[in-house]
Amino acid sequence: MTMPPPSQEFPTVLTTKHEAPMLDSVNADPNAIDYDIVIEGGRVIDPESGLDALRNIGIVGNEIRAIATSELRGRKKIDARDLIVVPGLIDMHSHALDLAGQRLQAMDGVTTALELESGVPDVASAYAEAAQDGRLINYGYSASWAGVRMHVMAGESRNATSRQILEKLGAERWKRDAMPSERAKMRDLLENQLQGGALGIGILLGYSPYADPSEMIDVARLAQENGLPTFTHARPLVEQDPSVPVDGAREIAEIAASTGAHMHYCHINSTSNQHIDRACQVIDGAIAEGARITAESYPYGAGMTVVGAQSLHPETLSAYELEATDIIYSRTGRALSSLEELAELRRVDPGGLVFERYFDEETSPHRLSRMLSPKDWAVVSDAMPLVWNGRQDDTQWPIPARAITHPRSAGTFGRTLKLALKGSLGLTLGEAVSKCTLQPATILEATSPAMRRKGRLQVGCDADITIFDPQVVSDQATYRNTTRTSRGFSHVLVGGVLVVHEGNLQMDMRPGRPVRNSS
Ligand SMILES: [Zn+2]
Repeated sequence: MTMPPPSQEFPTVLTTKHEAPMLDSVNADPNAIDYDIVIEGGRVIDPESGLDALRNIGIVGNEIRAIATSELRGRKKIDARDLIVVPGLIDMHSHALDLAGQRLQAMDGVTTALELESGVPDVASAYAEAAQDGRLINYGYSASWAGVRMHVMAGESRNATSRQILEKLGAERWKRDAMPSERAKMRDLLENQLQGGALGIGILLGYSPYADPSEMIDVARLAQENGLPTFTHARPLVEQDPSVPVDGAREIAEIAASTGAHMHYCHINSTSNQHIDRACQVIDGAIAEGARITAESYPYGAGMTVVGAQSLHPETLSAYELEATDIIYSRTGRALSSLEELAELRRVDPGGLVFERYFDEETSPHRLSRMLSPKDWAVVSDAMPLVWNGRQDDTQWPIPARAITHPRSAGTFGRTLKLALKGSLGLTLGEAVSKCTLQPATILEATSPAMRRKGRLQVGCDADITIFDPQVVSDQATYRNTTRTSRGFSHVLVGGVLVVHEGNLQMDMRPGRPVRNSS
């Protein structure tokens, strides 16, 4: 894990395309003011400008005001020699926006985590609650198709949390065909959310795989009319379930083409698995014809889902390349022994979380690199809320082992950077950093102006900054110790506030701000 030398090809003073920076680093003297914080001597990587060189960064308030080769005066200094300084990592797929989840993610270098795949049925409540309680890192929500459907079709709460939605995904009541009046009601509720700041529409379609395709077209059209994207957990592929009304990948391609909606393909790795090349062909073909489709993946060979999910039906399990012994019940940490045991668990605890082991990351590293190598896909965590054995206590830190999640909740970004530094992803470090910063910002910025100031290290951008030690950075969470925090992220700043300092979580800081759509 030797660190390649920083390039000397880049200019010593950066220009910026951002509007109205407080200090124009081209014309003004960056030494003329005292900065609140100066990050000194780090190897600074900005994926958008291509900067990869030793620089000092000056921060005032929540903004980057200078990036310079010369020494900067600061009230507080962070020594970043031998460390790498990158834009704060952006996770556009997290279901763990509560305090415990945000703490794990901050220790993994994340400065913005968004709940987009599930979303919530009442974004105003979610944003209000987050603002009232305070958040460690930045947050945002989509409007939840499944959550709204659960409310209209099954009488569930209008302001369910994403945790409550996940727990009910295995139930059948919300999946029945909707009458025209019910479809109209769902549409109104979703539209209200879009006008209330939601970042798009989250569509957990894979959990209702026989839903009427025309309903999906209507939902995508609604997003398009409001100038917002959709975030879809696709239906099964026909190889996995020949009885679906339409192939999962083809549906995303066709809806994007016919409605003009921006369709974001959630965790294409875990919904495609051994058929990923075929799914990519479909998507790439649609993109070449002008469809707006983006995608994401996470660096693990096991998924986590509710045991009542359609994909874990005992009769069709083998089509997903799974056997009963590949299913591990998160509450016990034990693999199931038979399809009969799986059927029983689906009956008694359909909302119970299980790991589904598709492949071993150690013995099949090529599968991992296949899922991470496309340069324009974002890296995401799909972080899951903690499941507590015994009394739930989100305030405990460190999080005790009796609280269980998927290791990706705590380790996605440490693992990605570690693999990139080892050269095992077929990506340069800059490309890997881009997939964790600039790519998600770019995917979202057309409709969420706040994202234009994130994912970059440039004058005028938000001071969301992640600093890591390339010799040390790594995930530590495993399937047995799921909440072990990543190591090597020495400093993490959210809006100019240190939430991780010298590797330690700053327990009382709440600098997280909402990310909303442009309305
Ligand atoms: Zn999903």
